[in-house]
Amino acid sequence: MAVRKVTAKKMVTKKALSKKWVYLFAEGNKDMRDLLGGKGAGLAEMTNAQLPVPPGFTITTEACNTYVALGKKFPKGMLKQTLAAMKQVEKQTGKKFGDAKNPLLVSVRSGAKFSMPGMMDTVLNLGLNSETLTGIEALTNNPRFAQDAYRRFIQMFGRIVMGIEAKKWDAIFDGVKEKFHAKQDTDLGVDGLKEVVVKYKELYKAELGEEFPEDPYKQLELAIGAVFGSWMGKRAVDYRRINKIADNLGTAVNVCTMVFGNMGDDSGTGVAFTRDPGTGENELFGEYLVNAQGEDVVAGIRTPMKIAELKEKNKKVYNEFHKIARRMEKHYREMQDLEFTVERGKLYMLQTRTGKRTARAAVNVAVQMVNEKLITKEEAVQRVDPQQVVQLLMPQFDYKAKEEATKVGKLLAKGLNASPGAATGLAIFDPDTAEKLGKEGKSIILVRYETSPEDVHGMYASKGILTQHGGATSHAAVVARGAGLPCVAGCEGIRVDEEKKQFTAGNKTIKEGDSISIDGGSGEVFAGEIRTVLPDYDKDENLKLLLSWADEIRLRKSRKGMENAPELGLQVWANADYPRDARMARRFGAQGIGLCRTEHMFMETERLPIVQKMILAKNDADRQVYLDQLLPIQRGDFIGLFEAMEELPTVIRLIDPPLHEFLPSYEELLVKSTELRMRIEYMHKDDVDNSSEKARLKETEELLNAVKGMKEANPMLGLRGCRLGITMPQITKMQTRAIIEAACILKKRGVNVHPEIMIPLVGHVNELKNQREILEAEAKKVIAEQGIELEYKFGTMIEIPRGALTANQIAEYAQFFSFGTNDLTQTTFGYSRDDAEGKFLLKYVEDKILPENPFQSLDQIGVGRLMQIAVKEGRAVKPGLKVGICGEHGGDPSSIDFCHRTGLNYVSCSPFRVPVARLAAAQAALAKVVKDK
Ligand code: PEP
Ligand code: MG
Repeated sequence: MAVRKVTAKKMVTKKALSKKWVYLFAEGNKDMRDLLGGKGAGLAEMTNAQLPVPPGFTITTEACNTYVALGKKFPKGMLKQTLAAMKQVEKQTGKKFGDAKNPLLVSVRSGAKFSMPGMMDTVLNLGLNSETLTGIEALTNNPRFAQDAYRRFIQMFGRIVMGIEAKKWDAIFDGVKEKFHAKQDTDLGVDGLKEVVVKYKELYKAELGEEFPEDPYKQLELAIGAVFGSWMGKRAVDYRRINKIADNLGTAVNVCTMVFGNMGDDSGTGVAFTRDPGTGENELFGEYLVNAQGEDVVAGIRTPMKIAELKEKNKKVYNEFHKIARRMEKHYREMQDLEFTVERGKLYMLQTRTGKRTARAAVNVAVQMVNEKLITKEEAVQRVDPQQVVQLLMPQFDYKAKEEATKVGKLLAKGLNASPGAATGLAIFDPDTAEKLGKEGKSIILVRYETSPEDVHGMYASKGILTQHGGATSHAAVVARGAGLPCVAGCEGIRVDEEKKQFTAGNKTIKEGDSISIDGGSGEVFAGEIRTVLPDYDKDENLKLLLSWADEIRLRKSRKGMENAPELGLQVWANADYPRDARMARRFGAQGIGLCRTEHMFMETERLPIVQKMILAKNDADRQVYLDQLLPIQRGDFIGLFEAMEELPTVIRLIDPPLHEFLPSYEELLVKSTELRMRIEYMHKDDVDNSSEKARLKETEELLNAVKGMKEANPMLGLRGCRLGITMPQITKMQTRAIIEAACILKKRGVNVHPEIMIPLVGHVNELKNQREILEAEAKKVIAEQGIELEYKFGTMIEIPRGALTANQIAEYAQFFSFGTNDLTQTTFGYSRDDAEGKFLLKYVEDKILPENPFQSLDQIGVGRLMQIAVKEGRAVKPGLKVGICGEHGGDPSSIDFCHRTGLNYVSCSPFRVPVARLAAAQAALAKVVKDK
């Protein structure tokens, strides 16, 4: 082991000899971010653009990596190159590092490729010692300024480089201020500052057992080592873990000539964005602080002025800065975040980087820049994160109001961020009350242990849903996403008591009618109301324009040469069960319906009793009676759906969930029958007539037995999907008839409908064959009865691994495939989608056992691999086989990218995610084009 270690070290050292570790600002450019870090690359680019950047140099990220690999030793040659670079800087500035008469002072800053909290921040005024101090005093003719610069340097060096706690420095400073009766820092005169310097040096010695370093080169060496060391510091490492940044990027060190913003009222320092980062408005946005150094702005001791005020106070500087800002934006073709300092009226640029912005600003800036011919439509489409689009479609909490609520302890718990958006309303614990109050115009948050299809009416009448149990594909989450309602699911930090109509979170209790607020984007649940901001998609011209560009891109030929894949990019369809969802989906740009879950229609209050009787019927003849009652109702549903979709393809899936979901709970029936029995046997023993109770008992016990007969240990893997249609073919027939009759009726009205009928949960080709025979026979019969020609498609879901693995057989009997990735994830991993997220999955993600929740973002190498097999083998048998996805992943950007690469024809997602998917699909198409080049 030891021998090998030495060899590795040797190799690093050998390689190191010939390496260039240090770059003058003029030697770099903006494309060298890997080597020079973001800040270094920006300084280099500005220098080469002839902007007023103080001279300096950057020590590379490779030097940092080598320093770490060598066990905290500088790579050979690095210090020598640093000295040479310093000589160049001395030449450029006409000053000398460590010279008593005309000293050069520098700042030392870290600068990784991505801006990263937790890294060592800035040390200013490095190079000061008792000799150079006198030089600064003489040159500036300002002893106070010189002493102030010195005490700042000792403090920053001692704290940041050597790690002596901030509070120890503050205690000394505050003590001297008190002694000299100075209220503000600026009230402290030369004598006071001198005393601070002496005491600071004493502290340094007491803490570290050595004198404060006088040698500027020693100071520089220690500071560089500290920057490199901070790359592996705990905070930086943690940040990288959370944000998935690689450890081997390393940080650069920037050494830059000091310029002073604190040399009087003609000096100052500022930060500014080239556009408003909140709204995207095209005007300078930022702050400027007169007579101050950068750290004063950060410390917030004095209130800076708005950058617009600088225009009045110092027109010359403002105009120059404004010109530079415009130039930088043109140069980078991107909104910039700039730092600058004015020293005695002269402007210096200290940093430029891409400006962070809100979702609103991201869309507005992207569109404006296309209009200004600064960027192309393709670039604009790539500049907006699809997740940001969600923020523009959903109500959001006012940022400040939410922060305030958290601060005052109103955050009750955090669950799964199941459907984005924010809502405030009264906590209501049953769907009927929710519906009643919702209709009265009250804002309701429906709180349930978990929801079931019987709750849908109450869910739709609410502004948001909160459940204690269930994951990203739970009923609550799926329905909420479909309806565009915010939802926090699987919030195990609360205890819901539906009987008592209350929930508890720790020692707090929320009762029926109390106000609560939920943030479905973050999973947070608050007590009380929080102010919300409402968006309006129809009036959002910039967003609609950006999405129209995304459509142009996405629907181009972006998959040329991809074997067996459609040439054009992904279409975006929607999952919608009701006409109003379908209309919403079209408003958001959906090109079809990829999944209508017909069973949701069965759950409505007036239909459920008929459905229950149909399920519990003792024989086929009885069952047919109830199916006949359901037929016109379903036909009506489909007419509504086809009317909303007109000529667009509409995929209707036949009944899927386990039948017990339609029946009363076994446990509740057991309690009810036991109560009745006890009443009859003990309390009414001598009553003459208890026949009505006896009749109720009989009825309840019959129902109990029937429900018991249907009870399954593992309903998700039980009698559901096509297995239902096979055991009860009459259901398949009724649904087929309802679909085809509805389509014929519309066709007669002149609407060219395109129904597609889909069979769920197929694992063996014979299952599909069976259903197809029943379905085709019935469809043929109906078409003949209706006397009109009608084309329809017949396809299957691929949501069982065996289905995917035998796609070649299945494709012979299907005109299309649609991946049900909710079930495919469940069955591939063997995780119950009802329980996994509440029980262990979130911990799995937290502990990095899984990189992501596979129910939210597709597991591309596992579940995705099955999809690739199915696409390839399906199309081998049937070239041009249409393939889509309708699991929740159809609205997830990285899963959409995978679907593009896998050659799917469309993704189908809940209506509110359609705009997100349009943008993500365009980005996927562009990425593919880039990769193809
Ligand atoms: C799926 O399994 O991905 C799917 C869309 O069907 P459901 O969620 O209704 O089971
Ligand atoms: Mg499914």
